[in-house]
Amino acid sequence: MKTPPSRLTELPKSIKTRLLIRTLQQRYPFISDLALIMTWIGLWRISAAMEYLPHATIWFPPSALTFVSFLMIGKRVFPAILISGLIATFWENTLYASNRPLQELLSTGLLFGIGHSLAYGIGAHLLSQRITKATPSDLPRILLLYLLIGSCAALIASIFGLSVLVFNGVMAPADMAKSLVTWWFGDLIGILVLTPVLSWIVIIYYPKSHLTMSHIGLIQLNSPARNPFIIKLLVGILLTTLIMFAAAQFRFQEMVFSVFFLCIPQMWIVYTETPLRSGISLALMSTWTALLIKLFELGDHIVVYQFSVCILAASTYFGMTIPLLASTNLRLREMAFYDGLTKTASREHFWAQAETEIRRARFYGQPATLIVFDIDKFKQINDHYGHTIGDGALLTTAQCIGKLLHQADLLGRFGGDEFMILLPGADLELAKSRAEALRQTLSKTQVPTTDHWLSGSFGVVMVEPEETIQEAFKRADTCLLQAKQAGRNCVIAG
Ligand code: GH3
Ligand code: MG
Repeated sequence: MKTPPSRLTELPKSIKTRLLIRTLQQRYPFISDLALIMTWIGLWRISAAMEYLPHATIWFPPSALTFVSFLMIGKRVFPAILISGLIATFWENTLYASNRPLQELLSTGLLFGIGHSLAYGIGAHLLSQRITKATPSDLPRILLLYLLIGSCAALIASIFGLSVLVFNGVMAPADMAKSLVTWWFGDLIGILVLTPVLSWIVIIYYPKSHLTMSHIGLIQLNSPARNPFIIKLLVGILLTTLIMFAAAQFRFQEMVFSVFFLCIPQMWIVYTETPLRSGISLALMSTWTALLIKLFELGDHIVVYQFSVCILAASTYFGMTIPLLASTNLRLREMAFYDGLTKTASREHFWAQAETEIRRARFYGQPATLIVFDIDKFKQINDHYGHTIGDGALLTTAQCIGKLLHQADLLGRFGGDEFMILLPGADLELAKSRAEALRQTLSKTQVPTTDHWLSGSFGVVMVEPEETIQEAFKRADTCLLQAKQAGRNCVIAG
């Protein structure tokens, strides 16, 4: 006999991995701290590989990891960041063969870890509070705050870091001001280019993170892209390589500024791909830039490169808000123009559209007619089956009538169980026969999940010359009232 597959093997691989990670983290809580320390040290080693001068690199990725960890996980990451700072200090001592005494290394590592954690921890806490309360339309404000907090936190962290070096005699006080700009920009760029990708990784590998994908806006709108993402990415990487190669070949200052052209492929990605993909290309293009600076020895113009990456990142974030704002506008438009339940035109939208259609019909010397109808004994449906079934009856009515309308006809909901239809080009006789056809079809329709049959009363009028749609509606409503008085389920024309 075949044994049924276990429930775990039926799950997709990605969910199984997340479940496994969750179980491991519950059983061994220190495992995520260990992973954080190892990643921090790994990123620190990568940045060391991109150093163009001792202690100076275009960017510092560990600052991004500290910021993202405090942002997504909270203050419980503090010990792990402190240990990472200590390990980096000891390792650096070996790398540069500085042979500094143990006590000094301990104090440098601890002070660096505390200052680094405080600056990014407080910044991330302030930002996380705003993010959890934000709605999608707040995204531009959140991004602005993120840029501001990132800049301030990086400045404070670098002042603190440099002060520790001066305090321990590793750096001369006179060199502090000179190093501040590159250290500050290095930390800031790390944060700017890596926050989206690292946040995404934390959400996947740390299921208890208190911010989700929707909080960080990574899964909004997947616009249909015509060219594959990988092609755009390769264009970006190729352009980066060409620009850096040219800067290395023709060593005049103007050449360096061509790095700002990288905004073109990056904006191409931002406006046509998801925010996550924009974040990935930002991280890859700037990492590639940093590696090429080291490879081609372009450290002389480091501040220009740092500026260009800052601009690339800021443009990316503001570019990300445009598809979101467009979709919010579209949603608001739909809410204002269409009835949420039946999806027919709202009263105001119907008036506006009808006025345009009537004007057009008059211009071509054609008539326009208005049908107003109301469901018979609708209250009974609500009272007998409840409002949810009542809502279903309204939707069924709108769908049943909508199917019989022509492309030029307009259907709107006046309110409650009363609807209106404008028939541009139809005279009164035609409108009466069309209303009769609608009435007959509606009376053969059942309210879903019940044995109640729908029916409606109809009033029909021709829109007179010089008459507004609202005036025509009043006359049609009087006809509708007469249809109700005549026993319902009939058509009266005025
Ligand atoms: P008549 O044949 O004279 O039209 O009788 P009726 O029972 O249909 O009376 P009327 O048209 O005045 O009833 C409209 C009811 O529709 C009153 C209100 O409670 C209900 N209603 C209005 N809007 C909604 C809605 O969005 N959903 C539901 N379920 N009921 C609604
Ligand atoms: Mg009614």
